[in-house]
Amino acid sequence: MEAVNILHRGLYFPSGRLDMREETSLIVLHHTGGSVGEDPDAAEIDAAHRWLGWAGIGYHFLIRRDGTVEAGRPMLSVGAHVEGANHESVGVALCGNFCEDIPTSMQLESCAMLLAILSSTFGFEPDAERIVGHRDLSATACPGDALYEQIPELIGKAVWYQMNA
Ligand SMILES: [Zn+2]
Repeated sequence: MEAVNILHRGLYFPSGRLDMREETSLIVLHHTGGSVGEDPDAAEIDAAHRWLGWAGIGYHFLIRRDGTVEAGRPMLSVGAHVEGANHESVGVALCGNFCEDIPTSMQLESCAMLLAILSSTFGFEPDAERIVGHRDLSATACPGDALYEQIPELIGKAVWYQMNA
């Protein structure tokens, strides 16, 4: 399978602040929100989430406007991205506000590849039961209509990447 290059920004998580997940049954998609065109890197989001008193960035992966995938919180740790489902899910955020704007084609392509890899890693099929938007689990507009409506296409591409890449 094709590998996605993941950019690490050297985020530091003090030992003892993160719990490890015992199961992973969901991948939850988010947008970062904010102003149109905003493209924060993982270090900026990490700083903002630490300011809230969290252990660090709440998402496990961040996908920048140019399609770069950045590492967030360690993949096997409990995230801070979806109330009530953090203990069973991986959080993937795409930079942008998709209530107002649309994801770039590079973001969607990287996201599909990442979904293929994560589904394989955690041993499930990429489908609508496993790959959901934040709004499917909480009362939020996240990940915005323009990303939410792409989820079926992302799942289709993830299946393709699993079979062909
Ligand atoms: Zn969200």
